[in-house]
Amino acid sequence: MDGNERVVTSVARAGNTRTDSAHNRYNIDPKDLIRIQREGRERGEDIIGFYHSHPDHPARWSPTDLAEAHWFGCSYVITSVEKGNAAITNSFELTGTDEGDKKLADEKIEVV
Ligand SMILES: [Zn+2]
Repeated sequence: MDGNERVVTSVARAGNTRTDSAHNRYNIDPKDLIRIQREGRERGEDIIGFYHSHPDHPARWSPTDLAEAHWFGCSYVITSVEKGNAAITNSFELTGTDEGDKKLADEKIEVV
């Protein structure tokens, strides 16, 4: 613990608005996001990240994941799912200053 870590205190499910290829693309319903942000603020919580799964694909971000990540400083958590079972979970922080230089950087996660 060095004081810079973010601590997950709750998680919320959100609907996937994509219907064209929902298995490998995702887009959180903006209505869900606004509601979740409001409910969190009432508890003194901020949104610090987003999670999604990769069915039968590695727990690495895809070019689409980077393109669709817009919350700088937030964590993007990806869990690989093999034959229906959660396998590996990795987390990446969206770094950079704008859409032109953004990156998803490996970050350590710890389950406590
Ligand atoms: Zn993905």
